[in-house]
Order: sequence, then C-alpha cells, then structure tokens
Amino acid sequence: MSQFHVKTYLLIATALCFTFFYAPTVNSNTPLENAAAAEIASQSHSINFPINISFELIGESHREIDEILFYYRLAGTNITGYKPTSISSMDSPTGRNRFTATSELATSGSKYIPSGTQISYYFKILYINDAEQETDPITFDYLDPKYRWQKMESETMTVFWHDITKSKIEEVISKSETVLEQVSELFDIEQNRPIRAVIANSQRESADSFPKISSSATRDNVYGGFAFPQYEVFIVRGVSADGIIHEATHLLMSQKLDSARSQVPAWLSEGIAMYFEIDNEHRNRTAEVGYIQKKLRPLSSMQSVPGKSGDIRLFYAHSQGIVGYLIDKGGKEKILRLLEQINSGTKTDVAVIDVYGKTIDELDKSWQATLNPSFERRLLVDPGTFWTSLILGTVFLFAVIVSAITWAKKKIYSHPETIDETFELPNMNEDI
Ligand SMILES: [Zn+2]
Repeated sequence: MSQFHVKTYLLIATALCFTFFYAPTVNSNTPLENAAAAEIASQSHSINFPINISFELIGESHREIDEILFYYRLAGTNITGYKPTSISSMDSPTGRNRFTATSELATSGSKYIPSGTQISYYFKILYINDAEQETDPITFDYLDPKYRWQKMESETMTVFWHDITKSKIEEVISKSETVLEQVSELFDIEQNRPIRAVIANSQRESADSFPKISSSATRDNVYGGFAFPQYEVFIVRGVSADGIIHEATHLLMSQKLDSARSQVPAWLSEGIAMYFEIDNEHRNRTAEVGYIQKKLRPLSSMQSVPGKSGDIRLFYAHSQGIVGYLIDKGGKEKILRLLEQINSGTKTDVAVIDVYGKTIDELDKSWQATLNPSFERRLLVDPGTFWTSLILGTVFLFAVIVSAITWAKKKIYSHPETIDETFELPNMNEDI
C-alpha cells in the first residue's frame, strides 16, 4: 500500500560506490602467474532473514595476502559497494596458507533490503606485492530461506511465491496484467523494466518481510503490501490481483515520474494505485464515515501517509475518492497532464490549478459534496438519540427473531432432505 523511498541507501551507495562491477576474470595490477594465485575452495552466502546475509570465501594461497574485500551489487539499482572482510588463516598440510574471509550485509532497519532483490557479489584478494585477484561473481535472489520458493517469469513480472499452486498464481498474474496494461496506457509508458514481485502468505510472514515503518501500522496489519521503486520490487501479502495491481501501479508510476524534481503527494500516488484495483468499493464507506464525522483532512495537508492505523485507513479512502472523482470528471488525459507537469518540476497545487482550473481544496470540497451516506449508514455511525437507539434495538431484535426462525426451519427441514436421499439410493440400486 505504500511506497518506500530509501534515501539513506542512496547516500551509502554514493559513499561506497567508486567502482564498477568487473567481469568475472582474474585481474591484477601486477601480472599474476596462475600458479601463484589463490585456489578458491568455496564462495558462499547464508541468509539470516530478515536481519543480514553473511558471505564467506575459503581458499589457499602461497602468496601473502594483504586484505580481502567483499564487493556487492543490488541488481536493478545503482547500489553497489564494497566492504573489508575479516580474515582468519592457518597453515595447511600442503604448506600453503589456508584462509577464510567473511563479511556481512545488513538487510533490516535503516539498511533494509526488500526480499525479492537480486544480489550479486564477489571477493577481491589483495596481495602484499600489489597483485590482486577477483573471484567469479555469484548472483542470488534475497528471499527467506525458511520457504521453498518458486519463480515464474511472465511478460512483465518475475514472481516469487511458495506453497500455492502454480495455476492460482498464473490466474492472478494474468488478471493483474490485463489491468496493468490500462495503467501503462494511462501513464503513456512502455513498460521496459521488469518488475519483481514477492508474495507473502501470512501476516507473520509479511511482518518479517515488510519494512518497519510504524509500530502501530505493523501491529494492526494495516499494510497489505509495499512497493520499492528504487529496487523495482514489491511485496504483497496474499495472492490478490488487487494487491499486485496496486503495488505494480506504484512501480509503473515511478517509471513515469523519473525526474528527480518530481514530488508526488501521497494522496495522488495512492489514489491512482487504488483507482485501478478491481474491487475497491469498500473504501467508499470509510470516506463517507470520515465525512460525517468531519474527520477528513484538507487534501493540501495530505502530502504523506500518516502513522496511526486509524488515520491511515481514512487517508487511503480519501485519496481513492478524490482521484476517482478527478478521473471521472476530468478524464484520464487530465491526470496524465497533471503527472507530466509534476514530473517537469511544477508543484502539485500549481499543476492542479493549471489542469483543472481550481485549487486542490476546492476540488476536494466538490468531491465531498458528492458523498451522500444512506440512512442505514448514518444509524451505524452515530446512533445519537434515544429514539434512534430504540429503532436500532427493535430492528436488531426483529433480525434475531427472523434468523432464529429461519435457523429452526432449516433444522426441521434438514431431516426430511436426508431421508429423501437415503430413500432414493436404495431405489436406484433396486436391480442389484
Ligand atoms: Zn500504495
């Protein structure tokens, strides 16, 4: 449901990244005879999900090693880096020096890496005499090793899932892709970058995989998914076309809004993501309740998603409502114009006036005027007076009585049905 921008990583990446990822060859400043190079016994990684990943290089060398560096790259991103390793060494029976170099990559907290990210790594051995040697790179998908993951590559997505039938995944992906074509059409983009999707099956699993952005939101399981534009990855809880559509829309939108100057308010990006969901009606009621209770915040103050779970639900309902209104009234062309203006660096409130001829808050008022909660909903929201309570009480009592009668009738009539069936069977088998 949310976009997670990881600016910290960019900083880290800039600080660490000074080199490109080399091709998998032995490389040396001073030519290094093959016989003198270290023999690599093993190069491996171990995922301690979701805390960190440890990397290990074991080998033997005649030459004296100065240090061993660990290089990594997060695929689909511009995040690369290197770290020193801690080396332990001992003499082997062959007279060579046996060494083990280890390093670690944190994957949680401020160094969060979403599962589904593809990671490549290799080691560089630096010898005392300036010669150096690189190991062959290894590429793997960062996923919780507790599960037996399966991978499916469709036209637009690489999906990781486990313990669900392949046919179910195929069905949901194909349903989502039909809608995502409309999304690409609205954004006027050709999706040219593959999206990676991870499906978490339970709340416990998603709690491990999602970033911890607010303890209240985590506790209440408010979020059903997260999109990480920087990684072209999203994670959703459950196999739902709407979850996939929502998060993939975020990623497509960030492909559209590729300018560093674009600042999209959360109400707009969330509103568009929800607009394309197939079944999004349930949020209309939340918006109506918020309207009656006068809890809707001014749209101009909805730049980012709030932290409290109660506020988050209303925020989403409000965002969906206003974006639906803008698209219904102004058409998809105007939304596209609005996004293009934002991408060129125009502030949203200025762009809105230019495209719609009204301020954000004026448009918001016009949308709110369309909210017309039914009588039944008013009762549920605010019983108010004694008389209303009395009516509610009577209706409830009546409903209980009707249900009781229906239940009793079913109970009574269930017997004859069973008897009919048992009578039928012997009849059918009469000839035997
Ligand atoms: Zn979202």
